[in-house]
Amino acid sequence: MPLTDHGRGRKQQFHERLGILHHRQLHRKLKERFPAAFNTRWTRRHWLHASLFVTLGALLATIVPGFSAQLQPTAQANATLPLQLPPLTLHAPARDAGVFWDIVQVESGQTLGEVFESMGVPAATMHRILDNPANQDALARLRPGAELGFALDEEGALRGFRFDRNPTQRVELDLRGETIHEKVLERATTTRLAVTSAEIDHSLYAAGRKAGLSPAAIAVMTDEIFKYDIDFKDVQPGDRFSAVVEETWREGERIGTGKILAATFTTDKKTYTGFRFDRNGKAEYFTAEGRPLKKSFIRMPIPYARLSSSFGSRRHPVLGTMRMHKGVDYAAGTGTPIMAAGDARVQFVGQQRGYGNVVILDHGRGHTTLYAHMSRFGKLKKGQQVAQGSVIGYVGSTGLATGPHLHYEFRVNGVHRNPLSVTMPPPEPLKGADLAAFKAATAPTLARMESMEQMMFAHVDSGKAKKR
Ligand SMILES: [Zn+2]
Repeated sequence: MPLTDHGRGRKQQFHERLGILHHRQLHRKLKERFPAAFNTRWTRRHWLHASLFVTLGALLATIVPGFSAQLQPTAQANATLPLQLPPLTLHAPARDAGVFWDIVQVESGQTLGEVFESMGVPAATMHRILDNPANQDALARLRPGAELGFALDEEGALRGFRFDRNPTQRVELDLRGETIHEKVLERATTTRLAVTSAEIDHSLYAAGRKAGLSPAAIAVMTDEIFKYDIDFKDVQPGDRFSAVVEETWREGERIGTGKILAATFTTDKKTYTGFRFDRNGKAEYFTAEGRPLKKSFIRMPIPYARLSSSFGSRRHPVLGTMRMHKGVDYAAGTGTPIMAAGDARVQFVGQQRGYGNVVILDHGRGHTTLYAHMSRFGKLKKGQQVAQGSVIGYVGSTGLATGPHLHYEFRVNGVHRNPLSVTMPPPEPLKGADLAAFKAATAPTLARMESMEQMMFAHVDSGKAKKR
């Protein structure tokens, strides 16, 4: 059956109802799976599938407060429409009903002068526009693909000119009078949720990009959500992930991905899951059971360093006497960054005899850590909160030290413990009302990601991956 107007209406409705699903890849998958839906009529089952994902948007709205306002059906529908229209015309002002805007896309290697010339607009007019430094600035930075709007009168004289000053502002110039009148239009953006899944072919990065994730979002997945559980050096072709991400859309174009609200990663026959949830005003990632994915402490507060002296009794390298070494030493070049081993409050920052420049962090529940011989401090003040992994200082050899190294101590209730073998306290799980809210929101979300994976990967396997 040919695509009649009736059929197109259906397809459009499908897009609107689908709301949060829009990646081309998924679109193709859906098309393969439900070919009929894309040509003719929708069965009850199709509608059910589509509405599942719309529900997901609503469910997630309960995870992130303030989200629901951005999930209005109209906003979604606008953003999901495949836009073949020139975006600039979407904002054509109604007041100039008689004006026709010509939209020109700047081509690679084309100068602004050439664009004006192609429109038959004299260079003098262009220079009139460029007289304004703000215009000159924006127009000097035009990239290929940028769109310029020209409004010409019956004689071919330029009466209006439009360009985008930055990602959020569109400038419209009225050139009819002696002086140029400028109007700035805000370019409205909307935030939407998308579910995306991908299988790793050769690189996680490539798969992530193909799934529509920004480089920053990929980094959140590898360096934040799953870094404690998955060694990404071991990721294999066939491993896969799903993510629920926030996306920013403007005039029908996706301009960026933001927060990852939920993600699963399947590797080595295990599936790991992380959900973003705000605890005490701070976003963290949790397992489906509400346990933080993050460990309470990182074992080594310094990257790429060699353990040069272990914990216990030893002859002191400077004093030459037998003494208890109350921490561990990591040899590293002067200036190597030192990280906070866990979330903490800064208890001390300054100089102490022997220790030189030293930082002491209080992690609560009786745990403190100490970092000595620093060449300089990070941006720190006593009493300040620091996050795990943030840089608190740099390796040096201040105090009693034979060479640049980090002396690191781990104390539990005032007693020095070996940081390499001490049992780290488990991080605080979600409790009470937080846990209840978290559970209510995440269980269905996980189910949605799973059904998404089933839809995409049904041909690959059927549940061969075991859940952890
Ligand atoms: Zn030491």
